[in-house]
Amino acid sequence: MSQKKKLELDVRGMTCPSCAHHVEEALKQVEGVVDVNVPGWGSNEATVSLFSDVDEAVLINAVELAGYKASLKEQKSVSDIPQGSGNGDHRNDFDLLVIGAGSAGFAAAIKGVDLGFRVGMVGDGDLGGTCVNVGCVPSKTLIRAAEAWHNAGHHPFKGVNTQQGSLDWDIIRSEKDTLVADMRQSKYADVLAAYPEITYIEGYASFTKDGTLQVGDTIYRAHRYLIVTGGHPHMIPLPGIEDVEPLNSTTLMELEELPESLVILGGRAIALELGQTMARLGVQVLILQRSTRLVPDHEAEIGRAIKDYLEQEGIGVITGVQVDRLSREGDTRIVHARVMGQEKEFKVDQIFMALGRKANTNGMGLQNVGVELDTNGAIVVDQYQQSSNPAIYASGDVTNNPEFVYVAASGGSAAAQNALTDTQKALDLSTVPGVIFTDPQIATVGLTEAQARQQGYEAKVSTVNFEHVARAQAARDTRGFIKLVADEETNRLLGAHIIGAEAGEVIQTATLAIKFGLKIDDLTDTLFPYLTQVEGLKLAALAFDRDVALLSCCAV
Ligand SMILES: Cc1cc2nc3c(=O)[nH]c(=O)nc-3n(C[C@H](O)[C@H](O)[C@H](O)COP(=O)(O)OP(=O)(O)OC[C@H]3O[C@@H](n4cnc5c(N)ncnc54)[C@H](O)[C@@H]3O)c2cc1C
Repeated sequence: MSQKKKLELDVRGMTCPSCAHHVEEALKQVEGVVDVNVPGWGSNEATVSLFSDVDEAVLINAVELAGYKASLKEQKSVSDIPQGSGNGDHRNDFDLLVIGAGSAGFAAAIKGVDLGFRVGMVGDGDLGGTCVNVGCVPSKTLIRAAEAWHNAGHHPFKGVNTQQGSLDWDIIRSEKDTLVADMRQSKYADVLAAYPEITYIEGYASFTKDGTLQVGDTIYRAHRYLIVTGGHPHMIPLPGIEDVEPLNSTTLMELEELPESLVILGGRAIALELGQTMARLGVQVLILQRSTRLVPDHEAEIGRAIKDYLEQEGIGVITGVQVDRLSREGDTRIVHARVMGQEKEFKVDQIFMALGRKANTNGMGLQNVGVELDTNGAIVVDQYQQSSNPAIYASGDVTNNPEFVYVAASGGSAAAQNALTDTQKALDLSTVPGVIFTDPQIATVGLTEAQARQQGYEAKVSTVNFEHVARAQAARDTRGFIKLVADEETNRLLGAHIIGAEAGEVIQTATLAIKFGLKIDDLTDTLFPYLTQVEGLKLAALAFDRDVALLSCCAV
């Protein structure tokens, strides 16, 4: 790969907002250009990152062909970037040192080298971080295995006779481990090997008192640092925790033998996904939730519905539970709690604490470099992922960003770009879809009804049960509903909240609609394929004005 450089152009003749876009597009067409930033038509500026063998005259020509005037303003090399964390030492090893080799770290490191900068990535523990090793990948494959087993026994089609096979946890677990190892190799180790420009440093990184970064015995310096160290399960230090040694999501999925009975403390995504999975694999599961409903940050109807569906499968759910302490008698573990003021004891084989995650910031010497943490230990960042130290950026689960791998990767990439170039790329968290992989799935995006009202919208809502959706009828699974929230004044879609089969697939159409400001009429005027679950979205849009039970085929 040849060297890269950065140029600033003075661009004249931009008289409207779309001019900036035209100039940007014209520059992007030039071969060898890696990145372009035209902040706006009023700025008369364009910043271009490109391979050093590209002649500036080609850029100027491209701008002129697009109908504007350009001249070279300033040429920057990477070493012109202002000095990093205030250590006063100008011997920098890297332009960017990424701390953490998970999804955010990989996205950031790749962005950094794509822009032509010297990037190092420090990784402690298994390459790839949470998602591939102990998060999304192992949990979703276990969910699928449990679902296959459950569905074989609960077939909705009367004319079909399924033969029950056998359930072998050892094999399921080892298949899960194989998948994890394969995906860690293909999505992380092989990708790292394909980017020899990224210097990988193995070990635990912490900031020293003089503002440098220490990994083992070696000191590294960089112009910019990006902290993407993720999080770990939050184990609340309840009295008795040492005796009971509760499981967390990682240790639960690694159990050599499944317990007969399991109490789960918590009632959000990880608790419900893994709770239902364990129940379907034959474990007697009881969910104890402190709030008065499951998934309390979702629409109340969704919390009630998922509770019903879980209970229908024989999973115990108790809400409004205050856990006081834990204890152990031989192999029996006991949760001592109060339910509606009454003292209760729950005796089980294992306890799974699913009470959220905490940022990995402890022991990193962040006090040495003035990085502000919130009361939960997460790094405080602005929309550009910059911390209170202007030379240090952070993103992913180590911040308060929503804990999804696609948010982590997107944030890591934006942070690297902001740290290394003059770009100010805000991480847009206004339209973050979220999926809980229970059966039925829960998927939401945008504002809930209550949030819309709090934000001053005159909110209107419509709800359509899946019994009106032809695909759900054909599949003999009409559980759940779609609830839409819209602005009465503009008719714009503000939120979509779904519980139902394939909700995770349906939500993306709603995400696009919200992100691009579509109105309810835009949805009702669009063709949706028959028979699909996403057709339910159109029915829910129609339901603002009509009784969908009275429609004939095809949501028109
Ligand atoms: C059970 C479970 C299921 C999940 N399911 C989903 C899902 O279905 N979909 C979804 O979108 N998200 C899911 N998530 C969330 C998702 O996994 C995370 O949001 C995402 O992996 C966070 O990425 P990250 O890069 O911020 O951190 P991580 O992936 O955690 O990476 C951080 C890395 O930094 C390393 N590190 C820590 N400290 C240091 C240090 N001082 N020096 C060097 N390295 C360090 C860590 O060891 C780790 O490798 C799930 C999470 C869990 C726990």
